[in-house]
Amino acid sequence: MTQITLRNTKTRKKEVFEPIDPKNLRMYVCGPTVYDRAHIGNARPVIVFDVLFRLLRHVYGAGHVSYARNFTDIDDKIIDRAEATGRDIAQITAETTQWYLDDMAAVGALEPTLMPRATAYVDQMIAMISDLIEKGHAYAAEGHVLFSVESYADYGTLSGRSVDDMIAGARVEVAPYKRNPMDFVLWKPSTDDVPGWDSPWGRGRPGWHIECSAMSADLFGDSFDIHGGGNDLQFPHHENEIAQSCCAHPEGEFARVWMHNEMLQVEGKKMSKSLGNFFTVRDLLDQGVPGEVIRMVFLGTHYGKPMDWTDRKRAEAEATLRDWRKLTDGVTPGSVDAEVLAAVANDLNTAGALARLRELAKAHDAEALLASANLIGLLTPELGGWDAAPDVDLSGLEDKLTKARAAAMETKDFSEVDRLKSALVEAGIEVRMSKAGVELVPGAGFDAAKLEGLA
Ligand code: AMP
Ligand code: ZN
Repeated sequence: MTQITLRNTKTRKKEVFEPIDPKNLRMYVCGPTVYDRAHIGNARPVIVFDVLFRLLRHVYGAGHVSYARNFTDIDDKIIDRAEATGRDIAQITAETTQWYLDDMAAVGALEPTLMPRATAYVDQMIAMISDLIEKGHAYAAEGHVLFSVESYADYGTLSGRSVDDMIAGARVEVAPYKRNPMDFVLWKPSTDDVPGWDSPWGRGRPGWHIECSAMSADLFGDSFDIHGGGNDLQFPHHENEIAQSCCAHPEGEFARVWMHNEMLQVEGKKMSKSLGNFFTVRDLLDQGVPGEVIRMVFLGTHYGKPMDWTDRKRAEAEATLRDWRKLTDGVTPGSVDAEVLAAVANDLNTAGALARLRELAKAHDAEALLASANLIGLLTPELGGWDAAPDVDLSGLEDKLTKARAAAMETKDFSEVDRLKSALVEAGIEVRMSKAGVELVPGAGFDAAKLEGLA
């Protein structure tokens, strides 16, 4: 059997992966808070853990791997969005959840086997919080329930911080009902105008961290194999999940392997709305960037390194995929290349896998290229179709531009040529002008509607 090694954040080491039960592998990844479109950075953990999901299915069999990714559908950001827009919370979360599923399918992510929604697990969260109070790890105060970090000696080991460091470094919310400023909220009261559930501590709603502990315990039990997410979640979210789960279920080990992806930035800068370099997956798709190209760009950087989204990488990935699709057109997949599999099994070295795929393409080994690309979710039928030349006849426009150019040569007035050219480029067409003539090539962002009025 293929040996998989993974870097475990908990031990800070690359370890040989030993499943708890090879017939029942369990992976949990923290999912989105559903109030807005997923930005391009949100797609990174989705693609990273999709590759791991595919690898585990390949090695252990598809029927033996469970992958849970939650939807956080109760959160103050959602409540704020409902207030700001006057829309119903349920409407916002249902719509955003569907957008998320569509956008992630577009970048070739398989649906996880389990997609629990937080609001469906409030009973389990209340039960877990009650248990933590009984065991002396949590206390109720002024309608809140707080987890007492001093009650758990190992608090901070995942992120390698002491409680004192955390207090000094973090923006902790000091509140009169907290015994220690690092204590975090398990439950908080709801006023009448916001969603709430009846509980032993009054009408209220859960804190964010408890949902993953309660849902993973319900779905996977006290111990499971892999827990993943972006490294911004290491502290406090994952630290708090560990504290809750290990104190509620001291007999279990909670997650055996912790994996964290590094952040994505854009053209060398942190993505932010104020810098104007913030965009969603849907923005890229709408600009005509195929989902498969987005995926390929992501796979070019190891998940443990910061990754830069650049337009140059986008163009390179698109050109490579066009070649690969041409080469594998009509081909039946062979078997997965051993070097590609070894690279992916080596802590998800997707960049190494891509390098080997390039060699296979160079050697015209289309069968191996196709099967091996499929292993990491590339060249799949679902992601195909974008590479075909659009079925449009641009000869009329080529004629028109040729005539305009000839006229401009006479009059030295190129304004009409420039106007036509920029309208064509705007419609996603590459304009190639040479002595031999004019050639119009529709690109990935081709939009036939924008040609109206030009012909
Ligand atoms: P959120 O909805 O903000 O909780 O984020 C959902 C997931 O996206 C989490 O796993 C985050 O760690 C991850 N994430 C958020 N921003 C980025 C980014 N810029 N690069 C990579 N992952 C990110
Ligand atoms: Zn979580």
